[in-house]
Amino acid sequence: MRLNLCEIIEMPGSSLPFSCELDTERLVCPAIKSFVSSPFAEGIIRNGAGVLTLTGTIKADMVCICDRCSVEFHCDKVIPLEVRLAADISDEDDPEIFPLDGNWLDLSDVLETCFILNTEAKFLCREDCAGLCPRCGKNLSDGPCGCQKEIDPRLAVLGQLLDKQTN
Ligand SMILES: [Zn+2]
Ligand SMILES: [Zn+2]
Repeated sequence: MRLNLCEIIEMPGSSLPFSCELDTERLVCPAIKSFVSSPFAEGIIRNGAGVLTLTGTIKADMVCICDRCSVEFHCDKVIPLEVRLAADISDEDDPEIFPLDGNWLDLSDVLETCFILNTEAKFLCREDCAGLCPRCGKNLSDGPCGCQKEIDPRLAVLGQLLDKQTN
């Protein structure tokens, strides 16, 4: 979706609201298994003293895969948007600033970029997910597994001696 900003670009104090769905085909992230519904963005572009700022949120309802225990979980994510827009190409190197194409803004590109930057962090089913036992694979968030702790090799030798004595 492209927005024509000509109405606000020359008018400090003016603003333009927007709302749009994101194309899930373009939001590929290994931790996201599926989208329950298309992520939806809404917000406003303001011209504050000649500086264009886009603010708003992306709401995404997803099924994700926990990075630690691999359990699938439901994730309702709200991604805040705060992006500066500039027609001046010399600012292009600044990742915080999205360039305009004349009076046009590629809104989909801005929203997809913000979404992907926000989903690079690890997805956990819960903050304190304990992960899986490296030996038996049990999900330790459900409680401890039956695996014995690593036995001190010296105690293991003692155990063998005791075994011999009892035989
Ligand atoms: Zn987990
Ligand atoms: Zn275990």
